[in-house]
Amino acid sequence: MADPQRLIAGIEAGGTKMVLGIGSSAQGSIATVRVPTHDPEETVAAMARFFASASAGRPLAGLGIASFGPVDLDPASPTYGYILATTKPGWSGFDLLGRMQAALGGIKAAIDTDVNGAALAEARFGGSDDLAYVTVGTGIGVGLVIGGRPVHGAGHPEAGHVLLRRHPAHAQFAGVCPFHGDCVEGLASGSAIMAAWGASLADLPPDHIAWGVEADYIAQLCAVLILTAAPRRIVLGGGVMSQQALFPAIRDRAAHLLGGYGRGVDRAALETRIVPPASKEPPGLMGAYLLGEQAAA
Ligand code: ZN
Repeated sequence: MADPQRLIAGIEAGGTKMVLGIGSSAQGSIATVRVPTHDPEETVAAMARFFASASAGRPLAGLGIASFGPVDLDPASPTYGYILATTKPGWSGFDLLGRMQAALGGIKAAIDTDVNGAALAEARFGGSDDLAYVTVGTGIGVGLVIGGRPVHGAGHPEAGHVLLRRHPAHAQFAGVCPFHGDCVEGLASGSAIMAAWGASLADLPPDHIAWGVEADYIAQLCAVLILTAAPRRIVLGGGVMSQQALFPAIRDRAAHLLGGYGRGVDRAALETRIVPPASKEPPGLMGAYLLGEQAAA
């Protein structure tokens, strides 16, 4: 059993900011800071400075990184822990894991995607070993934990880019994903909502068709996840999902789309299967602590 007193360095690495903390999964954060994501050298130096000052001489037992992607998660790969090809300037091919490990004196460390980190945290605190975490923000990401372990294969799942049935009200909208156009991120991310309607959901009236379109797409994604990975819980987080009115609309639509086929897909079951986050802290940062604790174990 991990010692709850041990301090872990956690990084939720995002494309625009790094959320840093020291703490543990049991006790939460004792210090956190946000550092803008600039070029990698500058950002690594800023992160190392925070951990040095926040730990104030106390030993850090492990480092966990829940990172934006794509990231190489194959421990057998020579570029394990590197950021792969990305549009973020300077970060393609950067050894994020190795450089942070070295900056913290060769500390034991582990890395996973930000959404797998969030899924790990929600699995721990929401009490389920089989869980999908979906973030609907500027982009859409999906983390999967099955049997208590984050899912990896050849790379990591990218279910934020699955292909959907287009909503009729979106017939003229090409979608905003630079890779696929009208994948779920291309149709239903915060960026897609802005591109399609010229405003965020929060700024559109409650009877605007945009709400039904969004609920339909996220319900389709939930249906795909239920049909492929059968998670016991699907946690929907991110800025767009702070609109609580989406939850009942998504459950209604998902129940309709699933048509009673399979287990736990009726409307009553979806009430507790498609849920908001349970973690009090940013789930990616809690996931980073869990990853750091696993590395230190
Ligand atoms: Zn896409």
